[in-house]
Amino acid sequence: MRPFSVTVPESVDEAVEALARWGSEARVIAGGTDLLVELKEDRRSPAVLVDISRLDGLREIRVEERAGARGEDEAESVGEGDVVWVGALATHAEVASSPLVRAAAPLLADACAHVGSPQIRGRGTIGGNMCTASPAGDVIPALFALEASVDVAGPRGVRSLGVESFFVGPKKSALAPDEIVLGVRFRALGPEHVSFFRKLGQRKSLTISVVSVAFAARRLGPDTFEDARVAFGAVAPTVVRARTVEKALGGKRLDAATARYISRLAFRDVMPITDIRGSQAYRQEMACNLLYEGLLGLLS
Ligand SMILES: Cc1cc2nc3c(=O)[nH]c(=O)nc-3n(C[C@H](O)[C@H](O)[C@H](O)COP(=O)(O)OP(=O)(O)OC[C@H]3O[C@@H](n4cnc5c(N)ncnc54)[C@H](O)[C@@H]3O)c2cc1C
Repeated sequence: MRPFSVTVPESVDEAVEALARWGSEARVIAGGTDLLVELKEDRRSPAVLVDISRLDGLREIRVEERAGARGEDEAESVGEGDVVWVGALATHAEVASSPLVRAAAPLLADACAHVGSPQIRGRGTIGGNMCTASPAGDVIPALFALEASVDVAGPRGVRSLGVESFFVGPKKSALAPDEIVLGVRFRALGPEHVSFFRKLGQRKSLTISVVSVAFAARRLGPDTFEDARVAFGAVAPTVVRARTVEKALGGKRLDAATARYISRLAFRDVMPITDIRGSQAYRQEMACNLLYEGLLGLLS
């Protein structure tokens, strides 16, 4: 491993300045669960690590904007359409156990609860998961299904981009080398919404996803849904929305047979590769099956 120095900025501006000063020689470190593996294996060899872990402002999880007026007894609760902010340094453990996230976006809390082991969830951050930009990153499908946006700070100020445009390829994001991710925002789901996150790995826990799926929709009746948002992980160069599936679900009455039919439309939305974790054909089949199981769960 190449020797490196560590700088610990006290503010976002200082972090951005350090990145601008050191250019391609610098690398941000948050929880270090991805980056330290890369350093040990000499897949990256920065001269300077910009350790952002002391930027406590980036750890916050809060309601940023209320969608409507609340009674006094509801002032602390989150309601449908409220804008929720999750800071980039929030760890998977913090997001998974946050009452606010559990109420506003249970699929995101579930996705974080499925990451790695307790140790990894205690250190790994949602910003780090996004910036690694792996197509198998577990947080990312949930953010797609929530139609989240990402705030990024750089020398030119703060910009906000839709989560789909943040990911541009396998392990490639739209982040410039002198930018850091501040956090994500999304609209809270409401009592009429249903959602789920499911993941298939090579074993039950401490496993990278072979396929994952995140789903959110509004329930119109016991077996009817609208505004479905379906995102698959690990079956394309980036996480993908399954638009064919989403369209087919809109307003249709679901039973086991229609759920099966619609789940198999996912074949049209995914384009997996064969790698050490699974073949293309296996991933395609499993993507359809994961979705089918999830849809059945909503009907029972
Ligand atoms: C044993 C093990 C098991 C794992 N299991 C899973 C799993 O089940 N599911 C899963 O999705 N992942 C898993 N991971 C991967 C990893 O834990 C997650 O991706 C984690 O969220 C990374 O966050 P971090 O804070 O540790 O990132 P770091 O390692 O600190 O950083 C990762 C990358 O993001 C950049 N970065 C970090 N934060 C920012 C920021 N705010 N702005 C700009 N750049 C930033 C860094 O420069 C680096 O390139 C696992 C890792 C290990 C070692």
